[in-house]
Amino acid sequence: MSVQVIHTIAEFRDWREANRGALAFVPTMGALHEGHASLVREARRLADREKGTVASSIFVNPTQFGPSEDFTKYPRTLESDLAMLEAAGCDVAFVPTAEEMYGTKNINAATQSMLATVDPGPLADILEGAIRPGHFRGVCTVVLKLLNIVTPTKLVMGQKDYQQNAVLRKMIADLNVATEHVMCPTLREADGLAMSSRNRYLTAEERPRAVGIFEALTWASRAFAKGERSGKILSDGMKQRIETRGLNVQYAVAADTSTLETFSSVENECVFLIAAKLGATRLIDNMLTGQ
Ligand code: AMP
Repeated sequence: MSVQVIHTIAEFRDWREANRGALAFVPTMGALHEGHASLVREARRLADREKGTVASSIFVNPTQFGPSEDFTKYPRTLESDLAMLEAAGCDVAFVPTAEEMYGTKNINAATQSMLATVDPGPLADILEGAIRPGHFRGVCTVVLKLLNIVTPTKLVMGQKDYQQNAVLRKMIADLNVATEHVMCPTLREADGLAMSSRNRYLTAEERPRAVGIFEALTWASRAFAKGERSGKILSDGMKQRIETRGLNVQYAVAADTSTLETFSSVENECVFLIAAKLGATRLIDNMLTGQ
């Protein structure tokens, strides 16, 4: 069976009306890779347990990109994305235009300021939110819109974007959204680099050095397992390992797994969170203690 492609909200609502019951949903920005495919396979597995269906969306959401970010050059590979969704077991792909989602072709600062949006709260002001102001407002708003259109019983997301999971989990709980949030593991390349649509921006010279982030995370995870509990030592150790590979660190911290507050002294568990720039490419990754 081939994946059905739907471009409008009205048609998606008709599809959902005809396909009631359990629905596992994987939102994406396209440029799909094996990491995305693993989420769709997990969604398929979860849906099959309840004789349900699997939906994915492909939408490069303009409102979550800052003015100097890569919105216009973000890779768009629709044909291969649809083939990948189909192979991974997706039933329906929602592929709206910006005009369909926001009622205007020209979604600029002025039109954005007219929108009702989700205020994601203080979890969205730290780490990624501090570096990318407004990013999580854009993410929460578009995800809530998608949830209102798709009405999934499960929302399946990747650990790769750890803070995004934390922010959306909080939004779903605080706003009583009737969907269950599921976080799936990060898929990695053979050397440990987390798969990402943005990896294709890396030059041949940069690509091997990108592993510095994974090296820093595995070092921190091992140091923690051996008993290191100082947030500063863990953070400094990660930074040093990333810098050795010539990346510019934006943050490298040991943080609480729910509030993402940075620890001065870690207790039982934490999440190691890293953002770094390699040339023009910005990379993020994370690892939980015990991983
Ligand atoms: P994106 O298309 O980058 O917005 O990502 C769509 C979904 O795929 C998000 O839930 C991401 O966390 C997830 N994702 C991205 N990279 C990976 C990966 N390497 N492994 C697992 N999930 C991923």
